[in-house]
Amino acid sequence: MARTHSSTAQGADVCAATLNRREFVRRAGMGVAAAATCALLVDRTPAAAATAGPDDEAAGILIDLTRCTGCNSCALACKVANYMPNPETPPQELSSSALSYVSLEQDASGASFHVKRQCMHCLHPACVSACTVGALRKSAEGAVVYDSDKCIGCRYCQYACPFGVPTYDWDNPLGLIHKCQMCFQRTAHGEEPACIAACPNGALRFGRRGDLLVQARARIRTQPERYADHIYGEHEAGGTSVLYLSPVPFDQLRFPVLSDRTVSHDAEAVMKMTPAVALTVASLATGLHLMLRRCHQHDATQSECSNDEEV
Ligand code: SF4
Ligand code: SF4
Ligand code: SF4
Repeated sequence: MARTHSSTAQGADVCAATLNRREFVRRAGMGVAAAATCALLVDRTPAAAATAGPDDEAAGILIDLTRCTGCNSCALACKVANYMPNPETPPQELSSSALSYVSLEQDASGASFHVKRQCMHCLHPACVSACTVGALRKSAEGAVVYDSDKCIGCRYCQYACPFGVPTYDWDNPLGLIHKCQMCFQRTAHGEEPACIAACPNGALRFGRRGDLLVQARARIRTQPERYADHIYGEHEAGGTSVLYLSPVPFDQLRFPVLSDRTVSHDAEAVMKMTPAVALTVASLATGLHLMLRRCHQHDATQSECSNDEEV
């Protein structure tokens, strides 16, 4: 797998990030890790989580589809970084064993394009608003992070996400949710997300969302023949930390057409209208989850006992 630092390939960009990249990654990563670690200490209600999101100072990812060749280096690096099975096989969809993938799309004229798909790390995430137990949280550093210890497996986040991102592990008796967490395990140590570091074509860039928007606007302004005049994620669903540039209109590449209105606003409204249903489902799911966990632990203990007896 070719691994070339993205800043090398993008050296000719009009606007260079002003902050030392490594220092930025280190600070962002430490922040995300600290935020994840201190999750229990903050207000985790859906409304608070949705409104305490990042601004343009927080981390983001810019994906330039005009530079993507569909080599799949990013998707394979993602698998390796997240200890997923079959790290040599390019995934064809998001799943519990693939947090990102590269889809092949055709525009209206029949021309082919490759699109890296992953969590958009929304500024006002509907998944966070829909989660009744605070298992998902928008960190101030940019990433939407997941706490499996809190998850009860109700899958409300799956229904709420306008991008169809969270996946459920049906093979696991504890059925956990899976999604990209912007590689906080790497950025905490001063590294870029694995997909960014793996892209040999400079199609991916990690940095402050505000800087990425400036760079994206400059690319459109200086090369209007190359880009559609649209930064996807600047405003969609209230804005996202993952931004896209494309040579053709995004709706031709199966990007959902969304208004500037936050989807979390609607999700919160629905949740407020159905507290009894939500609480009932949450209670049932919690009970089932605890029951399965107990059975799982019981099975493991039995297995250990029988192994001891065999010895
Ligand atoms: S894309 Fe979906 S899973 Fe990712 S932050 Fe937005 S709502 Fe949540
Ligand atoms: S940021 Fe990390 S988890 Fe997310 S798509 Fe890239 S490699 Fe995968
Ligand atoms: S590594 Fe870069 S060029 Fe290759 S598929 Fe991913 S985004 Fe596209």
